[in-house]
Amino acid sequence: MAGLLTISSVAQDNNELPIKGFCIAAPRPDRVDDFIKFIDEELAPAQVNTLILRVDWNYQYSSHPELADSIALSSKDVKRMVRICQENNINLVPQINLLGHQSWAGTAYSLITLYPEFDETPHVEMPENYEWPNDDGLYCKSYCPLHPEVHEVVFALVDEICEVFEASHYHAGMDEVFYIGHDSCPRCSGHDKAELFAGEVNKIRDHLALKDRTLMIWGDRLIDGKTSGMGLWEASYNNTHRAIDMIAKDVFICDWHYERAEQSAVYFAMKGFKVATCPYNKPEIALEQIDDMKGFISNANPKLLPRYQGIIQTIWSGAGSFMDRYYKHIENPEAKTGSVACTVTVLGEFAK
Ligand SMILES: [Zn+2]
Repeated sequence: MAGLLTISSVAQDNNELPIKGFCIAAPRPDRVDDFIKFIDEELAPAQVNTLILRVDWNYQYSSHPELADSIALSSKDVKRMVRICQENNINLVPQINLLGHQSWAGTAYSLITLYPEFDETPHVEMPENYEWPNDDGLYCKSYCPLHPEVHEVVFALVDEICEVFEASHYHAGMDEVFYIGHDSCPRCSGHDKAELFAGEVNKIRDHLALKDRTLMIWGDRLIDGKTSGMGLWEASYNNTHRAIDMIAKDVFICDWHYERAEQSAVYFAMKGFKVATCPYNKPEIALEQIDDMKGFISNANPKLLPRYQGIIQTIWSGAGSFMDRYYKHIENPEAKTGSVACTVTVLGEFAK
């Protein structure tokens, strides 16, 4: 009997998700109090143990104050979030988008505005009324990974944000990079796009490794869109996917899929990467993704088992507007779908 009990408790342990994660934009300074409450009263009781905060330009960088938003988090604000996460055993992971996402819709962000020489496609002007699709193929601007001065600037930001967050992990984004190895770039033109992408991932990974920090990235550029049938955003149609065989195996992959419970976590695990599956706004898909991840874990051989790292719920609105909608929903749950309903579903599963 004792033997049977041991076996069943091992099986149950194997079903546990190592990472129960949540990813959202860092709050603006005036919502830090609310956000600390949200961490303490909503995320921690649901056993969330990893919180990725997209900081980008919402921090008063002392290394490059010119790049910060006019209203941005202070180090004191950040330290308060660091403490509440430490008290609740939550691994707090800062994100600044590197390489891609240097603009959004009609707005270019400060890196390429203040350092226009870093822009991979300076000839593409930001449109007044952004539309997709457009003649320029503009989704988001990228910086040029081969510009000789870009890393001095971005690594100063990375070091500073990791320091103030006391971070063991750093998320570099790197999703949806449509502009890479552009024909018009005097440095990148003619280069293999997979090599360019992998080169940038490895450069960031190596920089973080100097201080024993782990790099996390979104997985979409590493999936072949044409062969897999996955969409233009969640997979690559610009020949970056072969980078999967060129990047260091200790890069952590956040594998986001929002329309279907794609099982590409297995692909990343088989390639040697730690991976978490990331839902967003469809509760029924999130439930399948959680179920799949638990299945991968319970069926994995000992070599693959540590690579299946769990689930990270992703939110793409600001923290303030999300919290407003979240508390409204808790009081009066009307919507059956959407990012709030999905978050409530995922947190409920985490807490079980
Ligand atoms: Zn370039």
